[in-house]
Amino acid sequence: MPMPFSVLAETFEKIERVTSRTQMLLYLVELFKKTPPDVVDKVVYFIQGKLWPDWKGLPELGVGEKLLIKAASIALHVPEHELEMLAKKLGDIGRAIEMIKQEKMKKGAAAPGLLAFIKKPGQQSQSTLTVEKVYETLAKIAMAQGEGSREIKLKLLAGLLAEASPKEAKYIARFVEGRLRLGVGDATIMEALAVVYAGSAAMRNVIERAYNLRADLGMIAKILATQGIEALKNVKPEVGIPIRPMLAERLNDPAEILKKLGGRALVEYKYDGERAQIHKKGEKIWIFSRRLENITHMYPDVVQMAREGIKAEEAIVEGEIVAIDPDTGELRPFQVLMRRRRKHDVHVAMEEIPVAVFLFDTVYVNGEDLTVKPLPVRHNMLENIVERSDRWQLAKGIVTSSPEELEKFFLQAIEDGAEGVMAKAMHDKSIYQAGARGWLWIKYKRDYKSEMTDTVDLVVIGAFYGRGRRAGKYGALLMAAYDPDTDTFKSVCKVGSGFTDEDLERLNDMLKPYIRQTKHPRVDSQMKPDVWVEPALVAEIIGAELTLSPIHTCCYGWVKPGAGISIRFPRFIRWRPDKSPEDATTTKELYEMYMRQLKKIEEKA
Ligand code: ATP
Repeated sequence: MPMPFSVLAETFEKIERVTSRTQMLLYLVELFKKTPPDVVDKVVYFIQGKLWPDWKGLPELGVGEKLLIKAASIALHVPEHELEMLAKKLGDIGRAIEMIKQEKMKKGAAAPGLLAFIKKPGQQSQSTLTVEKVYETLAKIAMAQGEGSREIKLKLLAGLLAEASPKEAKYIARFVEGRLRLGVGDATIMEALAVVYAGSAAMRNVIERAYNLRADLGMIAKILATQGIEALKNVKPEVGIPIRPMLAERLNDPAEILKKLGGRALVEYKYDGERAQIHKKGEKIWIFSRRLENITHMYPDVVQMAREGIKAEEAIVEGEIVAIDPDTGELRPFQVLMRRRRKHDVHVAMEEIPVAVFLFDTVYVNGEDLTVKPLPVRHNMLENIVERSDRWQLAKGIVTSSPEELEKFFLQAIEDGAEGVMAKAMHDKSIYQAGARGWLWIKYKRDYKSEMTDTVDLVVIGAFYGRGRRAGKYGALLMAAYDPDTDTFKSVCKVGSGFTDEDLERLNDMLKPYIRQTKHPRVDSQMKPDVWVEPALVAEIIGAELTLSPIHTCCYGWVKPGAGISIRFPRFIRWRPDKSPEDATTTKELYEMYMRQLKKIEEKA
């Protein structure tokens, strides 16, 4: 049974108006109940505002504002400038198209046809568009590349907009513009899928596990809807599909670290570069970033190293790509590597900023799922399949059960230009926890010379106008931590210092695509900024110490009734474009940091 696109458009409209995540969830459940199993993947992609997962590296739609206006003007039989004016006034092309379509339908006006393939407005009152048809047409628009592609894109898009109802046209236009941001988190989508296809929200963890092993929610939803929850339980990693990375907790006391890990640990340098998940199938290599973007094209040198340096036919290995000084082989800071990302010509960048790769794990080799194996087994396998060279090595590490030795190794790591160390459990249960932050890996980072011993990564949820020298620009940001249980962002602090003049200059452009008139439904904040910002940008923040605050909602009531956790004298350090909002420091982590700080103060007393 084909699924009418109107069902999706109506749900989008409802979701746009929700004020709470619970409501959002209910509408999604309603939607999935109406979705035939074989189109659920497409429905999931539409909700995510994309045609396919980003890591596929497939072309984007490639329709700019101009082309969209032109297509809409053909479809609606209105002059381009009229449409442009209305869009400007409303600040939304999608809404402008909807309004004009509604008007025309009311009048039933039949304007002279500009193109033969387009139905005249007023001829139809009911759209017959299906989810499949819209998806296929949009995919064709994206795939049209090279000479003559503009004409093809224009024709396809005009046809689609002409056939659509006013409401459908609004969402098609927003989708094409890349502005269909419903703000529904993956966790919420998974919960709705669990309710509809597995009978209970509690089954979300089975879906989550499968999604962690294959980061394609559309594909996972389709397996679930067509083959059932049992099939999902058997999902393994697959070469070419990124797996969500395992993450570490943090501590800064060697004895405590060893105790948490069961007394004995593999302790490795924590290199300060870019995490890379490297997949190999024969001669083909893929490199995925921490955020699972396909970054293969940025590192032709690493592709070559992997081709020569992985001795298995099929494998997925993980390591850190670090900028190095070619003369001395010394490690260079993260910022140097980020400069490579900004360069246009990768071959020039490769020459100017050479890199080395330090491998630390493997999760799949020749058909075997290693995520379920303990670390020593994975590490042995890694040693077996990796042929080392100068720039392609295993992370430097020791196995120890002595806090003194751990501390010494940590100091050595700092001296060698690493960020600290990663200590990893080696016991029988030390599996690879894809997509999870747990106590099997613990990071111990260098002290930033303040009471707050570690930085946190927070998400921008609002902005404040500046005063004085900063008048007319944004002067401070409202920052939040991520709460995975409720899939929401909870306010932690307002940060106004640490920005360079250049940072402040760039703020306006950076925030512009994410500014909202109202609070985002996934944001939980009592403090009201001058403008709300959709959770998208992550920044690294340090402060003097963690404090209790009556206004901030992070960990509200956890330590004391009526108080949340905040940061005193917060300072901006740098943007973290390699992190998505869901990768930010979690509320639970902040709580644990606060409790550790409290313990230290009590000990001193
Ligand atoms: P951070 O902001 O501290 O880099 P993160 O949130 O990116 O942390 P964590 O799991 O908390 O990720 O810290 C581990 C990160 O450190 C990995 O994502 C990886 O990029 C990097 N790393 C460097 N060396 C190692 C190593 N030997 N083992 C594991 N991860 C390492």
